[in-house]
Amino acid sequence: MTDYEMVIGLEVHCELSTASKIFCSCSTKFGGAPNTHVCEVCSGMPGTLPTLNKQVVEFAVKAGLALNCDITRKNKFDRKNYFYPDLPKAYQISQLYYPICRNGHVDIKTANGVKSIGIHEIHMEEDAGKLVHDPLSGKTMVDFNRCGVPLIEIVSEPDFRSADEVIAYLEKLRDTLQYLGVSDCKMQEGSMRADVNLSVRPRGQSEFGTRTEMKNIASLKAIARAIEYECERQIDVIEAGEKVVQETRRWDDEKEYTYAMRSKEDAQDYKYFPDPDLMPIEISEEYIETVRSQLPELADAKRRRYVEELGLPEYDADIITGSTTLVKVFETTCAICGAPKDASNWVMTDLLKLCNDNHITPEDMSFRFESLGEIIKMVNDGKINRKTGREVFAKVFTDNVDPAEYVEENGLAQVSDLSAIEPVIKEVLASNEKAVSEYLGGAEKNFQFLIGQSMRALRGKADPQAVREALQKLLDEMR
Ligand SMILES: [Zn+2]
Repeated sequence: MTDYEMVIGLEVHCELSTASKIFCSCSTKFGGAPNTHVCEVCSGMPGTLPTLNKQVVEFAVKAGLALNCDITRKNKFDRKNYFYPDLPKAYQISQLYYPICRNGHVDIKTANGVKSIGIHEIHMEEDAGKLVHDPLSGKTMVDFNRCGVPLIEIVSEPDFRSADEVIAYLEKLRDTLQYLGVSDCKMQEGSMRADVNLSVRPRGQSEFGTRTEMKNIASLKAIARAIEYECERQIDVIEAGEKVVQETRRWDDEKEYTYAMRSKEDAQDYKYFPDPDLMPIEISEEYIETVRSQLPELADAKRRRYVEELGLPEYDADIITGSTTLVKVFETTCAICGAPKDASNWVMTDLLKLCNDNHITPEDMSFRFESLGEIIKMVNDGKINRKTGREVFAKVFTDNVDPAEYVEENGLAQVSDLSAIEPVIKEVLASNEKAVSEYLGGAEKNFQFLIGQSMRALRGKADPQAVREALQKLLDEMR
């Protein structure tokens, strides 16, 4: 039996996080009431003219530099003509001949080490609207809010040979764009969408097989499943002596299969031509260097620094750098408490547990991030103990209280003053005569019990070390 390999190329669309649309000043905010973020320009009224949003160019250049691309000094927009109900102009403004970025690459980790995935180009374009199918009325309605939301399309070379490589690349892309702040890359809201071009060929053959395209798959898991399914399907077709048809297929994630949507995609003629309403964009060397100097530290560099300079375990560094929000909490916390390892411990245990218990993701946390550093500082300075710190943080997490005020108002400050601790322990000893006499008779384990009773009597606020010493002293006096 022939051994096959899959060959995959990706086209990834990312909505840019600009406040306004690419060619007008309408809001790009997700989820507004239908057709409330529209004007004459983005609803395609005749006679209106587009005005390019400067920030779209800046974001595209940022993405290009972070993905190791050459920036095209003179790039321009083209019209891609096709009719679709959610595209009111009947053409989309995109870049065909001179895309803004070319020849980049992304390095991903694979089972066989680091692999470089080529980026053919990145171009800027506008998004289309959305068709909403209403099952009740049986009608289809159109919402133009998304019309004109800026996109970059990142086109890879056909360098992927497995679903794992595709997922690693998409995760890397998402992390990078999120760090840059150019896109939130939320697949569930459609701000990152991937089209998968897939073919198979006998291993060792150099020419590509016939490919199919799967569009807009909604999650990483679904993409992995779709790739595995489509690869098997194509191998079955070839093994049966038939030919794979070049077509667009849709992945049904519930039924777990792909089906043909339209064939001969490449035969479709979009009659591209340069957009006469928009001037070419000239990008100077100076501009590129300015943008380059503003690039933030990206995930890989950050991860390395956390491990090598801050001494974090690799596992912790991986988890924290996997979310720009966790990075923000962690770095804010370090700046205040000056103890990176403690900051990491609190983030990895308490914070993630609170997220889990409250059923939210770190991105949805709403407390003041400085609070965690303040709590850790109080613990490390001995003002409150670890247990109280944890309680205060839970309160901060849910109600965003001020840690110092909360400790003050609720009398949670740690008691380490012996004159306050001793009388309480004496009472504990008096009411646990049996445990005490057993201890004095040699039952060492009762010491821990008496510590527990004393801490409880002190309402958990006492410095455990001070309690231990005071208890030991009092018991020794009783021998
Ligand atoms: Zn508009």
